[in-house]
Amino acid sequence: MTYPTRQAPRAADVRALGRSLSECRACPRLVDWREETARVKRPAFRDWDYWARPVPGFGPADARMLLVGLAPAAHGGNRTGRMFTGDRAGDVLVAALHDLGLASQPTSTHSGDGLQLYGVRFTSPVHCAPPANKPTPAERDTCRPWLVRELELLRPTLRTVVALGAFGWQAVLPVLGEGGWSLPRPRPAFAHGARLELPPTRRGGAPLAVHGCYHVTQRNTFTGRLTPAMLRDVLRTAALEAGLPARTAP
Ligand code: SF4
Repeated sequence: MTYPTRQAPRAADVRALGRSLSECRACPRLVDWREETARVKRPAFRDWDYWARPVPGFGPADARMLLVGLAPAAHGGNRTGRMFTGDRAGDVLVAALHDLGLASQPTSTHSGDGLQLYGVRFTSPVHCAPPANKPTPAERDTCRPWLVRELELLRPTLRTVVALGAFGWQAVLPVLGEGGWSLPRPRPAFAHGARLELPPTRRGGAPLAVHGCYHVTQRNTFTGRLTPAMLRDVLRTAALEAGLPARTAP
């Protein structure tokens, strides 16, 4: 039995889940990479003491909306210890959430910077930075118990999921199928602006809406494939559907 399979179901809340997850060394290739990156560093970050461990989800334990990315960036979350922090993807995402009134500040620079998310949580299907941002299917599957448990813990309040990119979409759908919601067959392909409504399979459960959004990678945002307006549109739609008071962006 792997460490995630053994430990994730035991976490009583998302804080305990994060503590347990941050000790994980189940994927040898990713452990090597996250630690090697921290040794070599980027010149701009040479004074940083990199986190170099798995990066837990971030946001309130009673979030109504969950944003699911891919994995931490080698010099972003792997450096700061907080998801979507210290890199261009985090800048774009947090600025959009702040525009909508869902984040306390427009920037996300380091773990003690005071950022709070309102009703929104970040997570990822793979919690360690992978080489070339490409985890293997085996690494995704090894990491899956952490996401399964996080979704179980969030289920009482969770109403929408925004999958950032095809990897997040493909990784989160089967987990939702296990976690108490019914998936359509065949499983719909990822598209920006795609929306699914998943009925609950358990008595007393609530439906869950899943939205597809291009990932906030530098490549997507620099090329204009994903503009700030496109991102805000998806986030605002998903937030309103979750019952969060997203305002119209300025
Ligand atoms: S990717 Fe997930 S399962 Fe693999 S070492 Fe990191 S936290 Fe553990």
